[in-house]
Amino acid sequence: MTTRKSLLLTILLTMKKHLNNFLLLTLLFIPTQVNASNYALVIHGGAGWFSDMSAEEVEGIKNGLKEALDIGYEILESGGSSTDAVVEAIVVLEDNELFNAGKGAVYTSELKQELDASIMVGRNNDAGAVASVTNVKNPIRLARYVMEETKHVMFSSKGAERVAKDAGLEIVYPNYFYQKNRLDDAKRIKKENSKMGTVGVVAIDKDGNIAAGTSTGGMTNKMPGRIGDSPIIGAGTWAENNVCGVSATGHGEFFIRFNVANEICDLIKYKSKDVNEAAEIVIENLKSIGADGGVIVLDAEGNAAMTFNTPAMARAYKNSKGEELVKIYRD
Ligand code: ASP
Repeated sequence: MTTRKSLLLTILLTMKKHLNNFLLLTLLFIPTQVNASNYALVIHGGAGWFSDMSAEEVEGIKNGLKEALDIGYEILESGGSSTDAVVEAIVVLEDNELFNAGKGAVYTSELKQELDASIMVGRNNDAGAVASVTNVKNPIRLARYVMEETKHVMFSSKGAERVAKDAGLEIVYPNYFYQKNRLDDAKRIKKENSKMGTVGVVAIDKDGNIAAGTSTGGMTNKMPGRIGDSPIIGAGTWAENNVCGVSATGHGEFFIRFNVANEICDLIKYKSKDVNEAAEIVIENLKSIGADGGVIVLDAEGNAAMTFNTPAMARAYKNSKGEELVKIYRD
């Protein structure tokens, strides 16, 4: 063989080797079991009674859900990540005083507001959470910052507020959260924890990545320092690629003790339940012990469950097949 021919052969063989490596790498990074066209977003704005509400409030809640749904969905549609969709949709709800999160947070027994939030991404079990923050405009942004920029998973009260300040997130005076009707509720309801709310979003993006987030003011008349399920990874929020994502709302103490969000994904993963069966088993179990609440669940194909044992749960869903829903009551 001439030197020229052997040089050409070497070049061809090297190219073939690199092509093989390239193909192998491409295959490794394609998520399994995922149909990229099945992106979807599901939202809740709290489970409860929604009985003493004016028609305007009901309309306002539906409009708020729809606004959050559209913002999250646009992100997914344009190829954005489920993490972005979850955070931006939750920010819309945190900024809307009709929801018990951010601006609309309920009051503690000492008539102050303490906010909790968490986020989880299913690609790598990454998670971030904050509890009892009093001056952070959007706690979900802080939860994301904790997840992405610190080596920890959860911060509370003053430490969390310091992280928010260092992160350059928007800090507000506590009176930003002032709301006359919520304050009146807290003064009236002095005997028991009540008035549930909370917001949550679960999304799956075009890459098949699932993310889930939850944000809340907690329960009206909660004791100062009390932390509910919303910032607890596994209880109020869970995301696991190729299995499911969950955000919960309801009587947090029970949701913590029964590890609700993770339990639902485990039923899908280990017992081959579908999203609706899994959610129903867990929500029915809660009902049997007197725990009120609901969950939103999204699986790896973009199928959603919106399951609750209260008379109503504010909820919304949109997927890439063109299905869309915004609802509060059962029918
Ligand atoms: N789960 C929230 C908490 O216990 C309240 C709610 O979802 O309504 O703090």
